[in-house]
Amino acid sequence: MSTEESSLQELAMREPWRTARGTPRNALDPTWIPGVGDECCDGRIIWEGKGPWWFCNKCGYIGSSPTPIHKPIQHPLDFFMASIFFYIRKGLESPTPVTKETALFQALYVTGVALRNAVVQRSRLGLYLEQLLAK
Ligand SMILES: [Zn+2]
Repeated sequence: MSTEESSLQELAMREPWRTARGTPRNALDPTWIPGVGDECCDGRIIWEGKGPWWFCNKCGYIGSSPTPIHKPIQHPLDFFMASIFFYIRKGLESPTPVTKETALFQALYVTGVALRNAVVQRSRLGLYLEQLLAK
């Protein structure tokens, strides 16, 4: 960490779920599904000094946008479980559907591959997550 990085910036790099990197932002993203987390968070914003970084004292979101409007972040375990169910459901709805068991095994395998590759990207997990976004 350079001396010019803020502590919030460093925390956001170490805990990328706090910036929601890699998650769908809106309905235009094919991985987006409507849910209770779509409403903007009403937590109090606390700015770090005079820099661009801030955090939400309600959900823990960290941002650097001048406009601190954000959706509440999900706990990583909740996001993981929701993603597994999302993958299985999409597999069942596919034009070439797979069985629930095959969809689950695919999800577990893809997760394993992503985790193995994340190990060598650990120092820049946020960038790695953005590379995984659906194009
Ligand atoms: Zn919040």
